[in-house]
Amino acid sequence: MLFEEMEKYEYEQVVFCHDKASGLKAIIAIHDTTLGPALGGCRMWPYETEMEALQDVLRLARGMTYKNAAAGLNLGGGKTVIIGDPKKDKSEEMFRALGRYVERLNGSYIIAEDVGITVADMDLVHEETKHVTGISERFGSSGNPSPMTAFGVYSAMRRTALEVFGTDSLTDKTIAIQGVGNVAFALCRLLHEDGAKLIVADINEEAVNRAVTQFGAKAVAPTAIYEVEADIFAPCALGGILNDETIPKLKVTAICGSANNQLLDAAKHGKMLASRGILYAPDYIVNAGGVINIADELSTYNEARAQKKIGEIFDQIGKVFEIAKLEQVTPGEAANRMVENRMEASKTSKIV
Ligand code: NAD
Repeated sequence: MLFEEMEKYEYEQVVFCHDKASGLKAIIAIHDTTLGPALGGCRMWPYETEMEALQDVLRLARGMTYKNAAAGLNLGGGKTVIIGDPKKDKSEEMFRALGRYVERLNGSYIIAEDVGITVADMDLVHEETKHVTGISERFGSSGNPSPMTAFGVYSAMRRTALEVFGTDSLTDKTIAIQGVGNVAFALCRLLHEDGAKLIVADINEEAVNRAVTQFGAKAVAPTAIYEVEADIFAPCALGGILNDETIPKLKVTAICGSANNQLLDAAKHGKMLASRGILYAPDYIVNAGGVINIADELSTYNEARAQKKIGEIFDQIGKVFEIAKLEQVTPGEAANRMVENRMEASKTSKIV
């Protein structure tokens, strides 16, 4: 079954890592290195079964291939999962053991943090390998990626506004935001500075209050965010929230937010949005600011250079909308085609 899956989606390598002394049980999946070494974070999660962990790492690694390629990075896609509870199963020895596994891959995979993993954990990995990003600022790292991710979402949102309203100005536009965590709070600041009107919802009352006080946002209940009248909806909390139940409720012209995997079923719900006349800006392009920022660390981090590249998400989203119109497909399908074309061109050495 594993080789069938690897063949179907063209995975290059899957490494099962076991270290008895530290109890490390991890899987590293390298999906594709056509454009360069595979970059992707490490997730620690108490998976119920090994199969669940394997499916997650495979899905996430493939997602990174698309995200990195669409961001214009010369990097492939990979991911690591550690089976365990991040609250109680971590140890120094575990992350050093993981670092030794990454080192053995000789630079074909670069690890970073993801859900359940901290900068301190990656610093331990860094003791054993240089093929790691997202480490402490004292090692030349870029620090918290959220403001950069937010800047990317903001750039994508301006391009989305241009597509649907004929202007990239967000002044006086109403933006409904689901989740006002790290990314969305920084996004709210940028939108507020532009004179946009904000509607926010979060299950964390404190987060809502901050946005209300600092940016004059209007607060609504978490379940009500799908039904508010707004120009653009920005999902910045959870995946799978665009589905059979929520899409019919939406009263917006476009969707552009930071959350990963917003469409519950990419093909079906992408088409459903299109048929309702709602323009969807594909999430993995919109939220690539974080990975672009981290990738910049690979050649001595330069904030201005990273920010400039993140600003180019404006053009990347523009390209996606162009392809969608030309080829009469949804923006999600257009984004996938753009990535696949880039990888194909790279294989035949048409790009550097
Ligand atoms: P975060 O945890 O700081 O913020 C998420 C917020 O969503 C929290 O305030 C949480 O209370 C809220 N939330 C959770 N469930 C909710 C619900 N049902 N309704 C309303 N609000 C709810 O996370 P973040 O770092 O800001 O990331 C937000 C999203 O963007 C995530 O999906 C993440 O995967 C994605 N993303 C983040 C980055 C980054 O740089 N941080 C990069 C790429 C993608």
